[in-house]
Amino acid sequence: MKKRILLLAGGQSGEHEVSLSSARSVLAALPRDQFDVTPVAISKQGRWLPPTDTRQALENGAAESGGDLVLHRVASAEGYDAVFPLLHGPMGEDGTVQGLLTLAGIPFVGSGVLGSAVSMDKVMTKQVLASAGIPQVDWRLAVRREWQRDAQTVRARAAELDFPLFVKPANLGSSVGISKVGGPHELDAALDLAFSLDRRVILEAMTTHKPRELEVGVLGNDAPTASPVGELRFASEFYDYETKYTEGLAEIHIPAPISGDVARRVRELALSAFLALDCAGLARVDFFYVEETGELLLNEVNTMPGFTQTSMYPKLWEAAGIGYSELVTRLVELALEQR
Ligand code: ATP
Ligand code: MG
Ligand code: MG
Ligand code: MG
Repeated sequence: MKKRILLLAGGQSGEHEVSLSSARSVLAALPRDQFDVTPVAISKQGRWLPPTDTRQALENGAAESGGDLVLHRVASAEGYDAVFPLLHGPMGEDGTVQGLLTLAGIPFVGSGVLGSAVSMDKVMTKQVLASAGIPQVDWRLAVRREWQRDAQTVRARAAELDFPLFVKPANLGSSVGISKVGGPHELDAALDLAFSLDRRVILEAMTTHKPRELEVGVLGNDAPTASPVGELRFASEFYDYETKYTEGLAEIHIPAPISGDVARRVRELALSAFLALDCAGLARVDFFYVEETGELLLNEVNTMPGFTQTSMYPKLWEAAGIGYSELVTRLVELALEQR
């Protein structure tokens, strides 16, 4: 019998549009002889859209408003064999939707509440991975209240890391709200921006040189496997939103031209991180490789990475011989697997 799949896309985060374009690819690729797929777009206000509005949102690439409160609509998710929450960022990739689906008793693709929540928050991720002995840049946490009441303390904390440094909302993606801060004069604007998007902000030391950026895909549940390693190349100062989503500004190289030893370390560290964070299904683990010093640092773990036909995650698995349709089918199977 065909499996009934509910595909959730859009959502309330700054990655709403990215999610809808990933969803278009997944919708087209889930084999129709095996799956009966119903897409539901979630508006920027967090409401679940009915079928006609969903179709329109997928076509337009965005849904500003409309739809019903999630608590009214979640009952309609009953009867599905699995949900594919193809949502990025807060209110989608952070354990909230995963908690809702867990309570509703519906299997879903990807990490559960714990793995999603911890991996979404860059500070929590760093703390967990540090205790697992995984190398990372030095960092500090600041919360909005401190910035509002005692900006001087936050500025001093940043200065401990030296400049340039990176300021990021702790819970976001697609480089939304991230600044590279060259010196003290740029710090306040970067913190204002990050705090306008999140209560928690991470300050990160920059790698000693502009790093090479390596990414690896992890697939599986409690016995995951790692894909070949990919590399991103771009001319801009860092991998910002514009570079990520403007055609032609970044190149993907698979396999990354690195030594067998570095590739092996990347894949081992990615698997260790996946297990330490209790991830499931899939994750794309991103690294900084400083060629000058040989340092390999884990940057972050994305539990629902970009998923268009040309995104890094599916490209990495294609290089391993698993095509896009086979990959999404495998992800649904992993969702249905007893852990
Ligand atoms: P994604 O879209 O992959 O989820 P994100 O929004 O979570 O990304 P990061 O991956 O943390 O953001 O950072 C975005 C980019 O900023 C990195 O790919 C890299 O180019 C640059 N960058 C971030 N932190 C550092 C750092 N500590 N040192 C050097 N470069 C950095
Ligand atoms: Mg990320
Ligand atoms: Mg992300
Ligand atoms: Mg990243």
